[in-house]
Amino acid sequence: MIEPRVVKELEAVVGKEHVLSSPEDLIAYSYDSTFEEHKPDIVVSPANTEEVSQVMRIAYRENIPVVPRGMGSGLAAASIPYSGGMVLNLTRLNRILEIDQENMIAAVEAGVVTADFQATVEEMGLFYPPDPSSIKHSTIGGNIACNAGGPRCLKYGVTSDYVLGLTAVLPSGEILKTGGKAIKNVTGLNLTQLLLGSEGTLAVITEALLRLMPKPKYTRTAMVTYMQLDDAARTVNAILLEGVVPATIELMDDTTINTIEEYLHLGLPTDAAAILIIETDGSDEQTVLREMETVARVARECGATDVKVAQSDAERNELWRGRRSVSPSLARRRPNKLGEDISVPRSAIPEAIRRIKAISAKYNLPIVVFGHAGDGNLHPNILFDKRDPDEWHRVEQISGEIFGMAVELGGTLTGEHGVGVLKQPYLEMALGKTAIAIQQGIKKVFDPKGLLNPGKKFPAA
Ligand SMILES: Cc1cc2nc3c(=O)[nH]c(=O)nc-3n(C[C@H](O)[C@H](O)[C@H](O)COP(=O)(O)OP(=O)(O)OC[C@H]3O[C@@H](n4cnc5c(N)ncnc54)[C@H](O)[C@@H]3O)c2cc1C
Repeated sequence: MIEPRVVKELEAVVGKEHVLSSPEDLIAYSYDSTFEEHKPDIVVSPANTEEVSQVMRIAYRENIPVVPRGMGSGLAAASIPYSGGMVLNLTRLNRILEIDQENMIAAVEAGVVTADFQATVEEMGLFYPPDPSSIKHSTIGGNIACNAGGPRCLKYGVTSDYVLGLTAVLPSGEILKTGGKAIKNVTGLNLTQLLLGSEGTLAVITEALLRLMPKPKYTRTAMVTYMQLDDAARTVNAILLEGVVPATIELMDDTTINTIEEYLHLGLPTDAAAILIIETDGSDEQTVLREMETVARVARECGATDVKVAQSDAERNELWRGRRSVSPSLARRRPNKLGEDISVPRSAIPEAIRRIKAISAKYNLPIVVFGHAGDGNLHPNILFDKRDPDEWHRVEQISGEIFGMAVELGGTLTGEHGVGVLKQPYLEMALGKTAIAIQQGIKKVFDPKGLLNPGKKFPAA
């Protein structure tokens, strides 16, 4: 419960219509893209860095917990306000402030929707590669806070590879500026990168300086089919060893293929063990074509039974349709899903998938596996019905076994969705006590009162 005098003060900063507390409004800000939910006491939507700073000063003085929020598309329950208090909605900070074509750098506010930003720079022949599949319903600030990746990471890297500087507001309300337009910058500790992936626990990101690239002019896309999973995994490394770095190598296992086919009837090979969607791109048409020829040859040498290369944009979209429809097709099978994002060394992909299938059989719950095979980032999605307590209990056991397996294979808990609260119980297994203690110490420096997104990412010290 926030005292009326404090509500009045907040209204004076952001405007009455941007302070919400009706039951309907609180429900609307009580969940993310997991199945978790908890209502805040108040939702405050500032319009710029200065307003964020003033709101934070009030919250700090009054000891109100604050949960920063973009569009709530996160998959780690990191924007759920479990402690009540304030949800700080950042979607009104939605201006692209500058596109500096000469230096290929853009300055944006944190609430800009990522797909809108991409479309704007692409109209100018520029390119912002990070492309989480939630691109149309997530913000640049949320992507930075989660260090989001996506299909194009293999060639182009993740969000942190494109952030040169940040404006952020500390829990106390102080404004922090990090980095700048200079590409090389080793002045002081790298606070920009420290905030990348901090899941709203250290500071509220309000503006970012983003590095851009020239837009690749040509793209070739192939769908490659395998009867043996190992052959698909061997192809990934064989292509990279040939010196070709495709923009994407996406994998779908047999359960994923069948689930999509039941939903969309695309004519996918339902007897296949795996499909890879491989894309080459670049500025020189002949190079892109040659790279795709190499991909096709290597795939066949590794045992692919079919290599279908799209001959037009329409065919390319059709090849991607299946991969893009994984999430909605899963929803038809079971009401709930827990989408994990373990990351393993590429060579361990077949072993990881074999073990996941064994875990699925052991607990008698379907698990589909798809993901970014090029960088070893797999998305095992456990399908279940949360209304059934026995199924929920089995989901918890399955998660624990999948995380244990990932760490055992030399990998880790999360490649892109973050720790949030859902992966916290496994943090020590992945990082060890010392790394956790150091991180708790850093949190204390930024947030001595522990008010910013409490209980997320690392356990309280
Ligand atoms: C269908 C689907 C597909 C997805 N695909 C991918 C994918 O391919 N790759 C990938 O990496 N991720 C993917 N994600 C998850 C991804 O993490 C989020 O979609 C996205 O990065 C979160 O952005 P958001 O604006 O919705 O943030 P929210 O969900 O609102 O918040 C996420 C976290 O960021 C914090 N936060 C948000 N904004 C700020 C800010 N301005 N300052 C400080 N902290 C902030 C929140 O406190 C919270 O901890 C997917 C999600 C969905 C639902």
